[in-house]
Amino acid sequence: MYELTVRSAFEAAHFIDGYDGKCSRLHGHNWIIEAVVRGEALDNLGMLIDFKIIKAELNKILDEFDHRFLNELGNFSAENPTAENLARQVFQKLAVSEIFSGSTKLYAVKVFESPNSCVTYYE
Ligand SMILES: [Zn+2]
Repeated sequence: MYELTVRSAFEAAHFIDGYDGKCSRLHGHNWIIEAVVRGEALDNLGMLIDFKIIKAELNKILDEFDHRFLNELGNFSAENPTAENLARQVFQKLAVSEIFSGSTKLYAVKVFESPNSCVTYYE
């Protein structure tokens, strides 16, 4: 089994509605997102999936969040833009990409809200 991790980032503001503390106030993060892909079958070059292909797919998804006020996006009309919800949303969008086939699948999405705080979502 091989495991690939691709890291990308975007910047966006949010607040956590109903939170008792500073995070209830509008603030921003430099969000770091990692996509973790697992699979067994390498192509004839010896690659699982080219890193740049995963990164391009991930960036397409992150584009809609970049330099946005996350609470105002339709994605978060029914739930808070927490790192947890963001990780699940990115996972569910990326998992259905046609870059994955056979045993090669998206395994997890990690969202770092800060260098020391990370959520991992997988199914
Ligand atoms: Zn925050």
